[in-house]
Amino acid sequence: MSSLTFLGAARTVTGSKHLLEVDGRRILFDCGLFQGLKELRQRNWGPLPILPDTIDAVVLTHAHIDHTGWLPRLVGQGFKGPVYCTSGTADLCKLVLPDAAHLQEEDAKFANKRGFSKHQPALPLYTQEDAAEALSRLKPFPFNTKVSVGAGMEVEFINAGHLLGSSYVLATRADKSGGRILFGGDLGRYARPILPDPSPAVEADVLLVESTYGDRIHPDEDDGETLARIIKETIAKRGKVIIPAFAIGRVEELLYWLFRLEDQGRLPKLPVYVDSPMALKGIEYYNAHTDELDQEILAMRRKLPRFTAVNSAMESKALVDNDTPSVIIASSGMATGGRVVHHLFAGLPDPRNTVLFVGYQAAGTRGRQLVDGAHYVKMYGQQVPVHARIEKIDGMSSHADAGEIVQWLRTFPRAPRTTYLVHGEIVAQDALKARITKELGWNVEIPSHGQKVDLPL
Ligand SMILES: [Zn+2]
Repeated sequence: MSSLTFLGAARTVTGSKHLLEVDGRRILFDCGLFQGLKELRQRNWGPLPILPDTIDAVVLTHAHIDHTGWLPRLVGQGFKGPVYCTSGTADLCKLVLPDAAHLQEEDAKFANKRGFSKHQPALPLYTQEDAAEALSRLKPFPFNTKVSVGAGMEVEFINAGHLLGSSYVLATRADKSGGRILFGGDLGRYARPILPDPSPAVEADVLLVESTYGDRIHPDEDDGETLARIIKETIAKRGKVIIPAFAIGRVEELLYWLFRLEDQGRLPKLPVYVDSPMALKGIEYYNAHTDELDQEILAMRRKLPRFTAVNSAMESKALVDNDTPSVIIASSGMATGGRVVHHLFAGLPDPRNTVLFVGYQAAGTRGRQLVDGAHYVKMYGQQVPVHARIEKIDGMSSHADAGEIVQWLRTFPRAPRTTYLVHGEIVAQDALKARITKELGWNVEIPSHGQKVDLPL
């Protein structure tokens, strides 16, 4: 008997958690944090429908927080098993999990100081100790290697081209039926700098695939033209370009474009700041795994990109107060936390500045409010007026769009018996389901939160 229960990223883009049960053994694929709307974030505080100490192992597709950020909570609640992932994922987890714990602790501290929590005292979702304990469970493996995870199940990580170390995971019932389920994780894009194309798919009976951009096609590659124009127009007004960016992955791509444009004489030499300790460490990890990256980036790396690392909170504060036209890349990407919040607090009321979003903005985040044209956003308990120009470049997404998802699906040697769409909002999922049904004739399901399905394994 085997089954799959969708415990997150079902009809929403965050909180990825898929529970595979095979002959009474439980393996959790991804252990992500819910982000965005309050009703979603509240799920982070609720218990799983099963006890964490009954889960035998966790398998991570990649290090993004919506796929790993609940792991310290799971550990704090009694999970005792190993966590399998690629070595790139293990490295990036060393950045994202302690950082997430720090943010949780800061949130709790801040709520206690201001007294705006219903709970007295407000407690963090998890602590630095929980994050450290979670990291100690990581078991890194190379791509394309069969790893036994018990109960006759084997997993194999296959490069998904979405982030350093990102994979889709093939789980095979090696003992009996040979049944195969492919956990799609997040799917990367074709012909992009930095990361390789997603690897072609392998045969599977059941597939889980993301659908973040299931109703959209990314704009055609414009060779950095939009980025160059926005920066030049802002600098002409003597403003700053504030770019909230996910600390890892996206920062790499932004730096690539900035220096390419500068190198080609399409942008003047400007001060470029990376104001995120995590992003700076992430750049080091990318440098340590160049064999997993797109060959195009390697040539650029040899030129040593020029940027200023903002190393301390004090330097960050000085940068907030500095009026020089510049480009500031700071996390978090949806402006929900991190140093970018200070830059926005100071920068949003000034019409000379531009806030440029380069990634997906989930419903309920401050980033989404700004992209949707909010006149005020709440920060540090205050309503901050938005006079800065708000811009968005979609092309830099690390998620496949609808066309790229279908392009990848076409690489399957045969249609899976069932394809489950996960990691998308329902509008995107409905559109993608219609498209896959029409173009490929596949059997597609959109599972709901908490739904349990039997598997043909
Ligand atoms: Zn991701």
